[in-house]
Amino acid sequence: MSKRRWWSVWLLVLFISLGSPQKVAAQAVADSWRFPMTAASTRIEPGFNYGQWVGKNYNCDGSFSTINLYHMGIDVITNNTTTNSCGMNDNTSGMPVYAVANGKVTFARWGDYPGDSLVIEHTVPGGTKYYSAYGHIAINSGIKSGTIVSKGQYIATVAHITDRKWEDHLHFEIRDVTNAFNFGFLNTMGKGYVSSLGGFNSSWLNACKFLGDRGVALASNCIR
Ligand SMILES: [Zn+2]
Repeated sequence: MSKRRWWSVWLLVLFISLGSPQKVAAQAVADSWRFPMTAASTRIEPGFNYGQWVGKNYNCDGSFSTINLYHMGIDVITNNTTTNSCGMNDNTSGMPVYAVANGKVTFARWGDYPGDSLVIEHTVPGGTKYYSAYGHIAINSGIKSGTIVSKGQYIATVAHITDRKWEDHLHFEIRDVTNAFNFGFLNTMGKGYVSSLGGFNSSWLNACKFLGDRGVALASNCIR
């Protein structure tokens, strides 16, 4: 090819790159991770790590509901151990929740979990996708399906759940793509619980192990 034709090729490439500005903010690669709340001020509710069997949920008045399911997320609560008249800890509500890595919100629902819920899609170097899920929260304004978020972005606060008897907490999950498009997130899949481990349920990963393996400082009692 002549010198002159090479120049034309380079000019063409230059014009194409200048003439096609990206109209949508690109989803940055998730190459670094953090804990979904401030790790130093939080812990995992005992009995509510990944894969732990939950038999019963006790209410304020001593009555209980039978769960008999495996908890597939981690429940993050404050280190402040002051309790209310029922012996329950309501100090976690209002605490900030952060995106654990760069990503794009692929699911946002308000009000019926109870509390709001969010799922963020994270594409890691190499192209593999992971999903972080956040439940029992109050979503910050401006955060909705399609929003591009960056690691550490303040996306929500922990909600105060008045119509349930459990303590205020962030229900947090990490999932892979195994059943990413079959989520029925926090609804048809049993609100973060499953009846058996493995098989269809294998899209849930141990969030403590996943983040810990990536060098993230974890809340206390986060079992890897
Ligand atoms: Zn939970």
